[in-house]
This record gives sequence, C-alpha cells and structure tokens, in this order.
Amino acid sequence: MDEALARAWITAVAEAVRAEADRLTDLDAAIGDGDHGVNLRRGFDAAVAALDSLEPATAGDVLGKTGTTLLSKVGGASGPLYGTVFRALGKTLRQGGSFADGLRAALDGVQHLGKAVVGDKTMIDALSPAVAAYAAAAGAGEAAAARAAADAAAEGVRATVPLRARKGRASYLGERSIGHPDPGATSTALILDILAEVTSGDVTARGSAR
Ligand code: ADP
Ligand code: MG
Repeated sequence: MDEALARAWITAVAEAVRAEADRLTDLDAAIGDGDHGVNLRRGFDAAVAALDSLEPATAGDVLGKTGTTLLSKVGGASGPLYGTVFRALGKTLRQGGSFADGLRAALDGVQHLGKAVVGDKTMIDALSPAVAAYAAAAGAGEAAAARAAADAAAEGVRATVPLRARKGRASYLGERSIGHPDPGATSTALILDILAEVTSGDVTARGSAR
C-alpha cells in the first residue's frame, strides 16, 4: 500500500461511514446505545481533517495518524478499538511489514485490549476471519486479498446474528442480543469493503476517493 492508496482508503471510509451512519446507529440502537454510526462519523471526519494537514508521508504515517485521531476523537468502546487497528497497521507498515502483517497486528491489538474472541458477537467476528482470508489470498495480490478479506468479514457479520453478545454493551442484554447483527462487526466489514474497492480502483459505487 502506498500513501495515495492509504489516503484514498480513509477518505472513502469517511464517505461511506457518513452514508451509512444511520444504519450503523440503528444497529447499535437495537443492541447497544445507538451511537456507533455517530461515533465513527465523528472519528473518520476528524481523521480526514488531520490527514489534510499531514505533509506528504508514507502509508504507515497516514494510517498511524488515522489511528491516533480515532483514539482521541471517538468515545465508547469502538474509539480505542479502531484506534488500535489503524495504529497497528501504521506501525507495522512503518517498520517494513506487509499489510497482511499489519492486519494480524491489528487483530492482536484489539484482542489484547478488548479480550473478545470469535463468537462473542463483536468486531472480532468480522476482523478475525478477514485477517485469515487476507493472509491466505495475499499471494494473489493486494486487490484479491482485500476482496477476500471483505467477503470473509461480511460472512462474519452474518454469523453474529444468532449469537448472544458476551462483550461490550450488548452483553448487558443477554438473550435479547440474539437476532441482530453486531454493529462493530458491520462497520469492520464496511471498512474492509471500502479497502477492496479502493484497492481495485473501483470506488465509483460509493463516490470519489481518487
Ligand atoms: P459503545 O459500545 O461504547 O457504545 P460503539 O457503539 O461505538 O461503542 O461500538 C460498539 C461495538 O464495539 C460493538 O458492536 C462491538 O463490535 C465492539 N466492541 C465492544 N466491546 C468490544 C470488545 N471488548 N472487543 C471487541 N469489540 C468490542
Ligand atoms: Mg454504542
């Protein structure tokens, strides 16, 4: 990933999150407190603003800056968790690691922080299979790997529907969390879907990132 692609990704994520904020918030209203879309919109809008004033930099710098901005601007559970995702991606790329390595570090970081495992009905249910799918497809190139990751994440979201939440606010609902997709898994799948779009050069479906 180069700087232009990293910037295009974050810009397109901000657009997509703006477009989908109500849907994400509705999902969170069903099993949480209804702020997930608002949280992410605030965070990614702030990230885009921070990147506007960032001098030419590496992809690692762009993603790291995104992470620190999310960390400082997004409240709730998802701010620190997504902050960790992008900071881990940035740090890994800056150290010369691959994007697959970065995703692995992101997953490790989120699990270290939030202690959730697959099946707890959190963003881990989308991120974990996505990381594995990206690594498995990495040999086929960045675009194919990103598409495989996005598809695995979407499948992971569907798998959260029958689950009972065991972490985060939704866990307070117990059995009543069953029957709804997890909002954070849904936003993770969205972020990876945008990655697949920008990586393949096809962002027309959601707007203009390039
Ligand atoms: P809050 O729950 O504080 O209102 P958000 O609504 O922004 O924060 O984010 C909720 C999402 O955060 C959940 O749908 C879930 O995916 C994710 N989440 C919550 N707790 C954890 C955790 N411990 N580990 C991983 N993800 C979590
Ligand atoms: Mg919430």
